[in-house]
Amino acid sequence: MRAVVLAFSGLFGLAIGSFLTVVGYRIPRRESIVRPGSHCPSCNRALAWYDNIPVASWILLRRRCRSCSAAISVRYPALEMATAFVFVGLAAAIGPRPRLLVALVVASLVLAAGAVALGGRSRQSSLPPGCER
Ligand SMILES: [Zn+2]
Repeated sequence: MRAVVLAFSGLFGLAIGSFLTVVGYRIPRRESIVRPGSHCPSCNRALAWYDNIPVASWILLRRRCRSCSAAISVRYPALEMATAFVFVGLAAAIGPRPRLLVALVVASLVLAAGAVALGGRSRQSSLPPGCER
């Protein structure tokens, strides 16, 4: 049971981390976090589901957009993995209790705030954006 909870927490963390990359990229640019769907900011091509799998797609695409070969920042898989590690750590410490959900929500808000702060900083330094998740 414990292994199932930890595995589910890790997968859930990867999915939430993927969403947090969208939040971190779009909020500083005052863009909607809902529409349009995930796309490459360089060529605007919508990402297929298989190009939008947390961490795995970044590795399989060799850090480049499938369509235009624009670089995809390491920030995306790093935030996805960090969120997964935090979720697994909280699940290991708290266990499958209702307060785990509260802890995951609080952790997500903290990670989102950090992602927005870093997204705003990279915008100010005018670094070229990577493919957005
Ligand atoms: Zn592209």
